[in-house]
Amino acid sequence: MSTATFPPPTQLSLNVMNEPKSPPATGPREFKNIRREVTADAIAVLTFDRPDSAANIFDRATLEELNAHLDALEGDSTLRGVVLTSAKPAIFIAGADLHSLSPASMNALRDIVEFGQHVFNRLAALPVPTAAAIHGAALGGGFEVCLACDFRLATTDKTTKLGLPEVQLGILPAWGGSTRLPRLIGLPKALDLILAGKTVAAKQALKLGMVDDLVAPEKLLAVTLAKVAKAGRKPRRTVPFAVKATNNVVAATLFSLLSRRNLFKKTRGHYPAVLNALEVVTLGVGRSEKRALKLEVDAICLLAQTEAAKNLIRLFFLQERAKKLGFGSERKEADAPRRIERAAVIGAGVMGGSIAQWLATRGVAVLLRDINADAVARGMAGVARLFADGTKRRTFSPVEARAAMDRIFPVVELPSLRRTDVIIEAAVERMDLKKDIFRKLERLAGPDTILATNTSALSVTELADSLCRPDRIVGIHFFNPVHRMQLVEVIHTPRTDAEVVRRALRFVQQVGKLPVLVKDSPGFVVNRVLMPYLVEAARLFERGADTGEIDEAMLDFGMPMGPLRLVDEVGTDVSMHVAETLACHYPRRMAVPEVLGRLVKGGQLGRKSGEGFYLHRGKEAVPGEDAARCVRDDSAANLNRVDLGQRMVLLMVNEAARCVEEGIVSGPEDVDLAMVMGAGFAPFRGGPLRHTDTVGVANLLRAMNELVDAGEQHFAPCALLMDLATKNGKFYPEKGVLI
Ligand code: NAD
Repeated sequence: MSTATFPPPTQLSLNVMNEPKSPPATGPREFKNIRREVTADAIAVLTFDRPDSAANIFDRATLEELNAHLDALEGDSTLRGVVLTSAKPAIFIAGADLHSLSPASMNALRDIVEFGQHVFNRLAALPVPTAAAIHGAALGGGFEVCLACDFRLATTDKTTKLGLPEVQLGILPAWGGSTRLPRLIGLPKALDLILAGKTVAAKQALKLGMVDDLVAPEKLLAVTLAKVAKAGRKPRRTVPFAVKATNNVVAATLFSLLSRRNLFKKTRGHYPAVLNALEVVTLGVGRSEKRALKLEVDAICLLAQTEAAKNLIRLFFLQERAKKLGFGSERKEADAPRRIERAAVIGAGVMGGSIAQWLATRGVAVLLRDINADAVARGMAGVARLFADGTKRRTFSPVEARAAMDRIFPVVELPSLRRTDVIIEAAVERMDLKKDIFRKLERLAGPDTILATNTSALSVTELADSLCRPDRIVGIHFFNPVHRMQLVEVIHTPRTDAEVVRRALRFVQQVGKLPVLVKDSPGFVVNRVLMPYLVEAARLFERGADTGEIDEAMLDFGMPMGPLRLVDEVGTDVSMHVAETLACHYPRRMAVPEVLGRLVKGGQLGRKSGEGFYLHRGKEAVPGEDAARCVRDDSAANLNRVDLGQRMVLLMVNEAARCVEEGIVSGPEDVDLAMVMGAGFAPFRGGPLRHTDTVGVANLLRAMNELVDAGEQHFAPCALLMDLATKNGKFYPEKGVLI
C-alpha cells in the first residue's frame, strides 16, 4: 500500500510528526522507519516505511522508534486511537531483523527479545483502541505486533500473508506470538500454525480468526480508522467459549502429550524448536501473560544456541544472497538487465511443459515446441494438469490460471525467434540431438537472445563450441518438479559472455527461483554430489543391505526421502542415464552399479512403471521382488543404520569438497545452498560442507581412510579435505560465517 491510499488530508487533517517532542535518553534522535501522523479525529497513524528498502523489518532502531512513539502516545490525553500501517507495496512488516538474533552474547540476545516484548506490551496496554491495517506480508515479529493490537484488518490482496514462521528458522515466536496467538484463536489452531511455521493468505487468516475483517487495499486505512473511531473506548477482551475450552491446563497437557510423540517421530528429534514451541505454547495458556512471555524469552535464548537454528538462519541468509546474485552487494534495479518478456521452450516433455507452465504463471509469454502435434498436445495436457492442481491448491484463481495458460503458444514449426529474450532447450538428453537443435535455433534467434539448455549432465561447453556464437550459451538447469524446486543452476562455460550470465541470473530471479552460479563441469553441483550417494545406496543394496534400512538410515540423518526411494521416484532409467554420464568422467568413484542396468532392462523403471527398488501400490511401497534378485552377496547385510548412513554421507561430503577444490562454485556456501535447495540435504545440518565443519574434517577424513584401507578405494578423500585436516581448518572459518 502506498501513502497515496491515505484519504485526502482535507478529510483526515494529518499532522506529520517526524520529530519526537522530547526524545527519550535511549530513543532515536529522528524517526527514519516509522512516521507518526494524527487525524482530525485524534487517531494516530504509525506508518512503517524503512528508507531505501522494499521491506519493513524490526531491527533495534525500528523497535526504539516504536518505543519513542509510544512515549508520545501514552502522554497524549487527547488521543482517541492508534493505527499501524505500512507504506510498502507488498510488505507490512516482514519480521525481525535476523542479524539481531545473532548477537555476540546471550545477554545481548535476551536484551533484544525482552525489549521487543516490552515495546509490544506497551502497545497492547495503550488505553485507546489500536488496530493494524495489514497489507502485504505480516510475518514473525511483523505479525506479533499486530497481535498486540485490539483489531486486525487485512487486505484481500495476494501479497497479504500472515504467520509465525520462526520454527522454520530453528527458533520460536518470542515477541509475544507464542502467548498471544493461542489466546486469540485457541490452542489447537495456534499450535497448528506455530509448530509448522505456517504462513496463510488473508482469507484463511480470517477463517482462523487471526484477523477481524478483510478490506480492499484502497479502502484499508479508511476502514481501519473508522473501526477504531467507532470502537471509541478500549475494547474489553472477551474470550470466546471455544477458546476457553481449549486454553486450560488440562486440555493443554493433553495436547502436549498427544503431539509430542508425533512431532518427535516426524522430526526424528532434529528440530528442537518444534518441541520447545509445543512446550512454551501449551504451558503458556495456563499462566499469566507475564509468565508466559518469560517462557518465550528463556526458550529462544536456548534455541538460538543450537546448531539447527544457526544453520537454518544461515540458509535463510544464503537464500537472500541468491536473490541478489549478480547485482553486487546492493541490488540496484536501475542497473539490472531488462526483464524477460518472451521465451521459447524446446521440448514439451516432463521438464519443458513444467518450465513453460512456471514461466507463464510469472507473466512470461512462452512458445512451447515439440516434434509433432501429438507430442505438443501431450505437453499441453501436462501443463493443463499443473494449472488444475495449482487451482485446487489455491495457488492461483481459475481466472489467473486461464490467463497464464493463454500465455503459452504450442507450436510444431518454429517461427522467427528474433524478438524472443530467452530460449530454453528441454529436449531428450542426447548431445547429437541437442547440437542439431541449437544449430537451428542460432539461425532463428535474434542477436540478443539467450540460448539455454536444461541438460542434467551433458557438457554445455561442448554444445557451445559446436555453435557460431558460443558466447550466448548457458545452462539454465531447473529441477523436477519445477513448481516445487526453488533452485536453478546457471551454468557458464569459459566462453559465455558475462552479460549473458547476468541476464540469465536475472531471469531466474525474475521468475522467483534461486540461482546458483556454476562453472560447466560434469553433473554441475547437485547431480554430481547426489550421484555418488545414490550409487553407494544401490551398491549397498547389491551387497545385501536391507532396502528399508538403507532408506531409514538417511531419513534418520535428516533427508526428506531415502536414496532408493528417490531413485524410484526419479526413475531408474533417468537415474542410470545421469549415472552413466558421470561415470564416463569419474569412472573410479562413480561406476554404475549393475542393479540399475538390470532394473531398467527388466522394465522396472520405478514409480512410473509400478516397480523399481520398491513395489509401488498407490502410496504404499514395499521392497520389490525383482530387485531382490540383483543382490550379489551379503557383505553389507550386517551394517547398522549408522554405518550405512556414514558411508553415503561421506561420499556426498567428498564430492561437495571437490566442487570447491576445483573452483566450479565461488565457495562452500554455493554447494551447501544448492544441496539443501536442490536435493533436500538435511536443512538443519546447513549443507554437506557445513556438516563437515560441525563433525570435524579430521573425523570424516579418518572414517574415509578406514574404508580405503578396507579396500574401498572410492572413499579416497580429495586433496582439499586432506589439506584442511592437516591445518585443522574449516570450510567456514569463524570470521567468515554468516551468523
Ligand atoms: P522427456 O523425454 O519427458 O521430454 C523430452 C521431449 O523432447 C519429448 O517430448 C520429445 O518429443 C521432445 N523432443 C525430442 N526431440 C526434439 C526436438 N528436436 N525438438 C523439440 N522437441 C524434441 O524428457 P525430460 O525429462 O523433460 O528431460 C528434458 C531435458 O531436461 C533433458 O535434457 C533432461 O536431462 C533434463 N532434465 C530432466 C529432469 C527430469 O527429472 N526429468 C530434471 C532436470 C533436467
